[in-house]
Amino acid sequence: MKEEIILYKIEDLIFSYTLGREKMEVISRLNLEIPGEALSTISGPSGSGKSTLLNILGLIEPLQRGRILFKNEDITALTEIRKNYIRKFQIGFIFQQFHLNPTLTAEENINYFLFRQNLPKKEIRERCEEALEAVHLWEHRKKRPSELSGGQKQRVAIARAMAKRPAVIIGDEPTANLDQKTGYGIMEVLAKWVESRKSSIILTTHDSMVQSFGKQNFHLQDGRLRR
Ligand code: ADP
Ligand code: MG
Repeated sequence: MKEEIILYKIEDLIFSYTLGREKMEVISRLNLEIPGEALSTISGPSGSGKSTLLNILGLIEPLQRGRILFKNEDITALTEIRKNYIRKFQIGFIFQQFHLNPTLTAEENINYFLFRQNLPKKEIRERCEEALEAVHLWEHRKKRPSELSGGQKQRVAIARAMAKRPAVIIGDEPTANLDQKTGYGIMEVLAKWVESRKSSIILTTHDSMVQSFGKQNFHLQDGRLRR
């Protein structure tokens, strides 16, 4: 029997925000195993800690209490250098508001990240073309974000994450601002990427259409897991 690959193993994770003198616990003793080579979704009411969890998994928000293994590596107490390496090569983050550079074209937005990976020019060109083809935007590669629709911008952000060829793409409600048809098209692209690259995707969502693409659908409530 094939052993299931675990991408993230989360143990007794606790996270609080401090506002003035008030401490608010957002994640309460969360234990979770997120499978590798698969698409997983995290749902839950607004304020349940979904974005906080993704930011912790993406090494954007520092860990406070608990332990996390990423691809069997304990990331609880990594050096800044190792954390940067993982962020740069292993994790592709898709922000809800895209975070594209408005002065760069679609192509340049993608290439910028690849330059930072110190890849040879030829490989950058190939990866950029492959990613823009995958999201059906190759003809629009010379356009800047202001010349693209919301759905197109989101697809550039997705192409940028895919072109990094990370172990995992993490997306915070990546289809929330899109109409159902555009959202479905994006989910098909993401599902295909998981299949062809044997990589993983973790998305937060409110949408049952998105959940229908998930191998595992986790539900958070008050920072805890609900079935
Ligand atoms: P979700 O993504 O499920 O809507 P979040 O993780 O964004 O939930 O937020 C969880 C809780 O933490 C909410 O009550 C929110 O108001 C609070 N929160 C989020 N970010 C911060 C922050 N930077 N400072 C203080 N409180 C925050
Ligand atoms: Mg959120």
